[in-house]
Amino acid sequence: AVWFEEVSKTFVTARGPVRALRGISGEVPAGAILTLVGPSGSGKSTLLSLVNLMVTPDEGRVFVFGREASAWDPPALRRTAALVFQRPPVIPGSVRDNLILGARLQGRPLDHPEDFLEMVGLPRELLDQDARELSGGQLQRLGLARALVLEPRILLLDEVTSALDPSAVREVETFLTDLCHSRGVTILWVTHDLDQARRVGDWTWLMAAGEIIEAKATEDFFMQPDNPLTLRFLAGGH
Ligand code: ATP
Ligand code: MG
Repeated sequence: AVWFEEVSKTFVTARGPVRALRGISGEVPAGAILTLVGPSGSGKSTLLSLVNLMVTPDEGRVFVFGREASAWDPPALRRTAALVFQRPPVIPGSVRDNLILGARLQGRPLDHPEDFLEMVGLPRELLDQDARELSGGQLQRLGLARALVLEPRILLLDEVTSALDPSAVREVETFLTDLCHSRGVTILWVTHDLDQARRVGDWTWLMAAGEIIEAKATEDFFMQPDNPLTLRFLAGGH
């Protein structure tokens, strides 16, 4: 569904250039869950941002369903590949407004916003609550619900369960893996939680300093990594 071909990205900052990605290549098959792990600043979020054109590469190419990302109409691409942030931006207004407006921005009506709340384990009574009054965990679930409204074929998840309690984490994991298996949705899932990466992943990539240093089927990634740095990372070092 998504592939990266020799992708590099350097950000120009006040402190000078930052090489966020260096020669990234790899493929995420349709209907699979890729878990992306790696230390802070290793380039995980930047890699996700390439898929929906929030960021464009300096070198190399990104393909989404066989078509170069830059050749897509950006709104169409962002419906197809929906990005969910750790702290989803809130539209001022009710939870209902957030779901409906999210849909309207993408040119879609939304008849039953409560269905999407239920999918992510939020009670429908929350529909009329001011979205700015939600807890961190409720907000993360609203962020997911708002993405699901778009019926994306690809979900780009950036630390989307970090504020949830353990049982809510499991609930969201089950829901998302079901979505993959039943509807063929492809997920690129950035997480700092290695147990989560192992539970939900079909494939796992480890990033370090802008490179993929280990890429394997998830079970093999955790059981028999090739790179000594992976062992160190798994042991809790960086
Ligand atoms: P974390 O786990 O902390 O979220 P990450 O793996 O997602 O980290 P990125 O956010 O992709 O890392 O950042 C990779 C590098 O690129 C970092 O050095 C970061 O400071 C830099 N960077 C990312 N986005 C920008 C930007 N918009 N402008 C300047 N530098 C950026
Ligand atoms: Mg990040």
